[in-house]
Amino acid sequence: MKVLVINCGSSSLKYQVLDMTNESLLCKGLVERIGMEGSVITHTKVGMEEKFQLIVPMEDHKDAISHVLMAIQDESHGVVKDMSEIGAVGHRVVHAGEKFAHSVLIDDLVIEALEECVDLAPLHNPPNLLGIAACKELMPDTPMVAVFDTAFHQTMPPESYIYAIPYEYYEKYGIRRYGFHGTSHKYVAERAADILNVNLDDLKLITCHLGNGASVTAIKRGKCIDTSMGFTPLEGLVMGTRSGDIDPAIVTYIREKEGLDQGVANEILNKKSGVLGISGVSSDFRDIEAAAEDGNERAMLALKVFAHKVRFYIGAYIAEMNGVDAIVFTAGVGENDIAMRDIICNDLGNLGIKLDVVKNKVRGKEMIISREDSKVAIILIPTNEELMIARDTYQIVTGK
Ligand code: ADP
Repeated sequence: MKVLVINCGSSSLKYQVLDMTNESLLCKGLVERIGMEGSVITHTKVGMEEKFQLIVPMEDHKDAISHVLMAIQDESHGVVKDMSEIGAVGHRVVHAGEKFAHSVLIDDLVIEALEECVDLAPLHNPPNLLGIAACKELMPDTPMVAVFDTAFHQTMPPESYIYAIPYEYYEKYGIRRYGFHGTSHKYVAERAADILNVNLDDLKLITCHLGNGASVTAIKRGKCIDTSMGFTPLEGLVMGTRSGDIDPAIVTYIREKEGLDQGVANEILNKKSGVLGISGVSSDFRDIEAAAEDGNERAMLALKVFAHKVRFYIGAYIAEMNGVDAIVFTAGVGENDIAMRDIICNDLGNLGIKLDVVKNKVRGKEMIISREDSKVAIILIPTNEELMIARDTYQIVTGK
C-alpha cells in the first residue's frame, strides 16, 4: 500500500508518498505561500535528480492539495498512475489535548474533537484541520488517519503534567503540560531499542530533539514519563527563538516597564528570544557558532546557555528514572552539531556518560557515539516523523 503523508502549516504544506510494502520513500515535496502571491510547489521524486517546481496561484489548502495530487500522478515526476493507488492519507496534527493518546482513523467525531482542541493550539490545529477537510473533499473514499504531536506524551503521570496553579484552571481550561514532538521522540526511541538490540520495555531513554524547536523526553519502558515542553511548545529548553523556561514574573515585569500588550509579549517570547535573543546574531546554530569562533561573546554565551539547559533536563530525567541506558540526539542541531553534542556530554563521566569525541565527528547518520567504557549509550538517530506517520496510518487502516 502507498500512503500519502501530509503536514499542513498555515501557509505551507509538506508531503511525502511512501510505499509501505518496504517503507520506502517515493517522493516528497513542499508547497509554500498558500493564499499569497507567488504560491509554489516543489516536488522531488526519489531517484530523479531534477526537482519539479511550479509557480501557480493557490488560494487555499484545497488548491494546494489539488496540486500535490497532480504532482504525484504526473507522467514524468509522479509516483502513482492514479489516486486509487494511494491506500490512505496520514495527517500530522499538532494538538489532541487529552482526547487522543494514539493515532486515530479520522471520522466526523474525530474532526469535531479536534475542532474542540483549536483553542489549545490556535496557530497549528486550524491549518491541520484545513488539510483534512481538503483531502476529504478531493479524495472522499480514501481513509485518513490523524497522528498527533501530543499523543505519545499522554502517558505522563499527573505529577509530571500538573502545574502548581489553582487546580480549577486544569479542570476549566485544560491547563496542564501536554508536550510536543511526540512522533519524533517515539520514532527515535523505537530505533534506539533496535540499534541496541534490547526490548524497548527494558530501557530507560532520554531523547533530545534539538531543532529550531527543541524538547527532551524521559522514556521508561517505552512510555513517556516526562517531557520538557508544556502547555505550549514555549516551555522547557532554550530554542532557536523561544525562551523556554523563565520565571513567569518576568513577563509582567517587562510588560509594565516597556508598556507592551499581550500580543507583543508573546511575540518576544516565541520569536525574539532563545539563542537569537541572547546572541543577537541568529536563531541558526551554524551562524552562532561562526560568530562565537570570531570571538563574539554573546554568541558564546548563547551556546553555553543552550547546552546548560539540555544538561539540566538530562540530569533531572536521570533522577526521575533512577538511571538511564541511552541518550539519543536527533533533529537539526542534535543530528548535525558536533560541537554542541560535545559540550552537552562533557564531564558527565560520574553518571556513566562518556562521549567518544572521534565517533562524535559524524552528521545525520545513525550511530552509537559513546565510548566502549560508557555505561550509558549515546546514540545519534536522524528523526523521521513522516515514516512514523505513514506507519501508524498503514497499521490503523490495514490492522497489520
Ligand atoms: P525545525 O524542524 O524545528 O524547524 P530542524 O530540526 O530542521 O528544525 O533544525 C533546524 C536547525 O538545525 C537550524 O536552525 C540549525 O540551527 C540547526 N542545524 C542544521 N544543520 C546544522 C549544522 N551543520 N550545524 C549546526 N546546526 C545545524
